[in-house]
Amino acid sequence: MSKRDYYEVLGVSREATIEEIKKAYRKIALKYHPDRNLGDKEAEEKFKEAAEAYSVLSDPDKRRRYDQFGHAGVGGVGGSGFDGMNMDDIFSSFGDIFGDIFGSGFGGGFGGRRGSRKRVNKGSNIRITLSLTLEEIAKGVTKKIKIKKYVACSHCNGTGAKNGTAFKTCPTCHGSGMVTQVHSSFFGRVQTTSACPTCGGEGRLISENCSYCNGEGVIKKEEIFEINIPAGVEDGMQLRYQGKGNAPKRGGINGDLIVEIKEKEHPHFIRDGENLHYDLHLSFVDAALGTQVEIPTLDGKVKIKIEPGTQPSKILRLRGKGLPVYGRRDKGDLFVNVNVWVPKKLSKEERQILEKLGKSDNFIPPAEKDKKDSFFSRMKKYFVGE
Ligand SMILES: [Zn+2]
Ligand SMILES: [Zn+2]
Repeated sequence: MSKRDYYEVLGVSREATIEEIKKAYRKIALKYHPDRNLGDKEAEEKFKEAAEAYSVLSDPDKRRRYDQFGHAGVGGVGGSGFDGMNMDDIFSSFGDIFGDIFGSGFGGGFGGRRGSRKRVNKGSNIRITLSLTLEEIAKGVTKKIKIKKYVACSHCNGTGAKNGTAFKTCPTCHGSGMVTQVHSSFFGRVQTTSACPTCGGEGRLISENCSYCNGEGVIKKEEIFEINIPAGVEDGMQLRYQGKGNAPKRGGINGDLIVEIKEKEHPHFIRDGENLHYDLHLSFVDAALGTQVEIPTLDGKVKIKIEPGTQPSKILRLRGKGLPVYGRRDKGDLFVNVNVWVPKKLSKEERQILEKLGKSDNFIPPAEKDKKDSFFSRMKKYFVGE
């Protein structure tokens, strides 16, 4: 398989600065990070590919050789690279780079893995979509949800071993849980110590399976619980509830529940971030004479005054009647867009009244009057030569 160009992998130009390269890599690495894509082979490959590209392009010397000679300049064509390395190798070789890039922003992911010898088993995440009304979003809401998920088997304490006790010492690592391997990579020969593949770092194997879960340590169960949705969430936003996901096989920590917010369409309002828009339709009589109208808001109706002579497309602003801003105390506004409705059919009598009104000078829009005036004055200038 031919290797992709490193610049293409990171999506940067050949002239990209180190900052741009770092930024591009950070974005890809976060997206395809194995902790976020458990068991996803394709994501893992993408992650490795980006790590390899970054290892070369972030090093001025390697980058120069790569620019000059391509892949051959930095460790062989289409062969070695990171292809033969597993994730733990990448983490251990790149510890410092990752630490540098992810800093504290990434949370426990890398920090926890780096340096720690035993890998902690984590269950998979569960993703659900939750539809909310704008009213619920405005105040925040507690939702009862029901999900079918893997939970630890109570008969074996989640271990998969009969009564939670039927174990024997792992013959591969003799109970230490670790094995040492030597790889050749860009960095020369790298000796890595990683979790024992036979026992997954446990140091022991099950000698007799738990019959309730067939040695899996987990069973599928329906669970009902409540989750709190904070005020101000938006469509597409993902909320993470730690430890509410699946339990892993044979012990460890639960995955997370990831709730994606879907916003239900509202009969009256269109949302724009923390602001709301409402279309008000006035009769042209009300627009001309002025009136008082009731406007719905997310917390009940309010009365607003329409001034005599209100023009269509006028926008009225009701401060603080929008949505709360997620994670803050501020609130958006409600914008009332004034539309003036013109009747499509008229009775004979109505037509007569309107025709009479139409003759009044007062009913000609001033802008049109100006145009007419300037047209006549121009004509006058042209003919009379003022
Ligand atoms: Zn072992
Ligand atoms: Zn069991």
